Amino acid sequence: MQNYIKNNISPDSLITLFAQAPVGLALLKCDHFVVEAANEKMLELWGCSSDIISKRLLDVVPELNDQEFHTILTEVCQTGKTFREKKMPAKITQKEGFKNRYFDFIFSPVFDELQNIVAVNVVSTDITDQVLTSNKLVESEFKFKDYIINSEYCAALYIGRDLVIDVINDKMLETVDKTADIIGMKIEDGIPSLRGQHFIDDMKKVFDTGETFTAFEDKALIVRNGVLEEIYYDYTYQPVKNSLGEVYGVFNMAVDVTETVVARKKASENFNKLKGFIENVPMAIAVFKDEDFKLEISNKGANNLWGDLSPFYGKSLKEIFPEFESTGVFQHFEQVFNSGKEIKINEMKLQKAGDFDVKYLNYILHPTLDEAGKATSITAIAYDVTEELKNRKKLLNSEKKYKNLSDALPLIIFTTNPQAEIIYCNDRLKNYLGETVKDPIGEKFYHLSHPDDVEELKEIWQKAVTKKHDFEAEHRSYNTYSKEYNWLLTRAVPTFDEDGEISEWIGSSTNVNEFKLLENQKDTFLGIASHELKTPLTSLKIYAQLLERVLKKAGDEKNAAFATKMDAQVTKLNSLIGDLLDVTKITSGKMQLMEEEFIFEDLASEMVEELQLNAPQTIIFENKSGGTVFADKNRISQVMSNLISNAIKYSPNTTEIVVTSTKVDHTVEFCVQDFGIGMPADKKDRVFEQYYRVSGDEQHTFPGLGLGLYISAEIIERSKGKIWVNSILGQGSTFCFSLPTVQN
Ligand code: ADP
Repeated sequence: MQNYIKNNISPDSLITLFAQAPVGLALLKCDHFVVEAANEKMLELWGCSSDIISKRLLDVVPELNDQEFHTILTEVCQTGKTFREKKMPAKITQKEGFKNRYFDFIFSPVFDELQNIVAVNVVSTDITDQVLTSNKLVESEFKFKDYIINSEYCAALYIGRDLVIDVINDKMLETVDKTADIIGMKIEDGIPSLRGQHFIDDMKKVFDTGETFTAFEDKALIVRNGVLEEIYYDYTYQPVKNSLGEVYGVFNMAVDVTETVVARKKASENFNKLKGFIENVPMAIAVFKDEDFKLEISNKGANNLWGDLSPFYGKSLKEIFPEFESTGVFQHFEQVFNSGKEIKINEMKLQKAGDFDVKYLNYILHPTLDEAGKATSITAIAYDVTEELKNRKKLLNSEKKYKNLSDALPLIIFTTNPQAEIIYCNDRLKNYLGETVKDPIGEKFYHLSHPDDVEELKEIWQKAVTKKHDFEAEHRSYNTYSKEYNWLLTRAVPTFDEDGEISEWIGSSTNVNEFKLLENQKDTFLGIASHELKTPLTSLKIYAQLLERVLKKAGDEKNAAFATKMDAQVTKLNSLIGDLLDVTKITSGKMQLMEEEFIFEDLASEMVEELQLNAPQTIIFENKSGGTVFADKNRISQVMSNLISNAIKYSPNTTEIVVTSTKVDHTVEFCVQDFGIGMPADKKDRVFEQYYRVSGDEQHTFPGLGLGLYISAEIIERSKGKIWVNSILGQGSTFCFSLPTVQN
């Protein structure tokens, strides 16, 4: 290079180049830094004229003394190393005064032929303007970043088309559930949940077009705490440009408005629901505003009641409903509007002009108040109660009818709750009880009987409750007419709720006092008559047997056979009278049991043997063991005899009867099975009632009083046993009883 200059460029050209160079050039001797040469630019920088040549620089530009130039120049002269520095500040006094300026400096050594450092070549380029501009830029960028960091809103700056996160404030980090680690990442890597959503593309568009993008209440799906959440933002994407106007980034500012959006959505949902609800409630709803009550809105119910009201929106109450004039409705509106208090009106009679139909309305007027508590509008809610009123009247009429009916009946009628407390009773019960019970309502019905009957009645009641079965009992109650206790027959049937539980009892009581008296008289008569008949019958039996023996001895076999038949008939009559006597004993409570211990199956076997003598069928005795019982042997044999006799009687034309004695736990069971006429299922439990005989084509051909089983049941019950029957009509019956066995 040096050679090229030496050979090709004239010293004049070099001097011109030196003098006109746009940078400051100077040559300073190492010896006291005497200015050897300096071009115009340099002289200008130093604020000097060309007379400084050959003078010490630090003398002519003394302000350089306080700066590091002396050190730098000394070092270059000593070390021979070139010093380069960019944007180096230097204070220089110029025409305008002392100024801080910036330079790119090169201080390079100049060697002589012996390679000694003799001078320093100074090249200084004034870049003050550039530095000041760039400083301004840095300052504004710093301010911008500071603004982002401290912003009240979510803010971030993304650089380049890749949108690298350059600055992001805590608010933005918080809303996307990230930490500052994402700074320096591309947005799609830093906030991956944004991938697949439109935001990144929108930002790139802003980057490409340089146009700001704004959105309101835009939904973003952001993963927070591992859960994808719907977040709503108001936000802007603003292009950020450099001094040349080129877009180098996107500034994003956002406000999380999720709460507002959700609240508004909810409010609007609720509003819609409410609207739908109000629209569809089966009541008429209308809103009237201002003092003249202009119709603002009405629902379907209102339209059903008055026809389509929408053409009347904005019209006053008086204009729309002139028929209210005489009803007091206008006054009610005034009252609510002035007082600010709701009112309810029931059963307002309404008849439209020219309309035959009378309607009854219940309505509520509810004021809407402003902040000062003054009414601004009135919501009217009305419902048609015409049908309800008609039904209530009907119900009242029918209730009255039933009450009259029930009061007219000669029976006492009542209903009770499941706890036996009387809920309703007809006048007959009240009159019957008269002064004795002030008010039967609420009383337990069994308490309304003779004190001696209460316990028994209560027991029967409780049994009926447990079995959910009809209740029937005879008891005495005080009759204020006859001033004495009368016998009543009380029957009650339960009614059930949907769960099958008793909800109510409906009962009736009939006065059976006279019947009871007659029954007593009959029992007394039967008692006396059968007792009186017994003695002559016993004598008759003895005479019949005596006659039989005398005739047989006389060889008169024919007449002896008549005497035998007579004896058999007397025996039958005796048995009938025995039954009647037993009944009178039972009803008068005089039947005595002579209890003793005996072996049950032995008695059964004896009875089978005895009855076999006169039975056309074969009686098979199956002894499956038995046990010792403590009971009245005679009475138990009477029961066995009765059951076997019935089996014989009610199974004609059959060949077998099976009698069994079986031990079952601590009882012994005795059963008689026949294959005869049997009985219908619904009759089988009634055969143990007094005088009850199953009716039917076949049954009535068999003689009997219907007392045997009644007596048997009484004996077994009093012996602490049980009696029952299983029977199929046309196939036969099995009558059984069981008795407790004696435990060792
Ligand atoms: P009675 O036999 O004198 O009529 P009971 O009290 O012994 O009176 O019997 C009552 C009723 O029960 C009878 O009238 C009959 O209808 C029925 N009954 C009793 N035992 C049988 C049986 N073994 N088979 C069919 N019906 C019977």
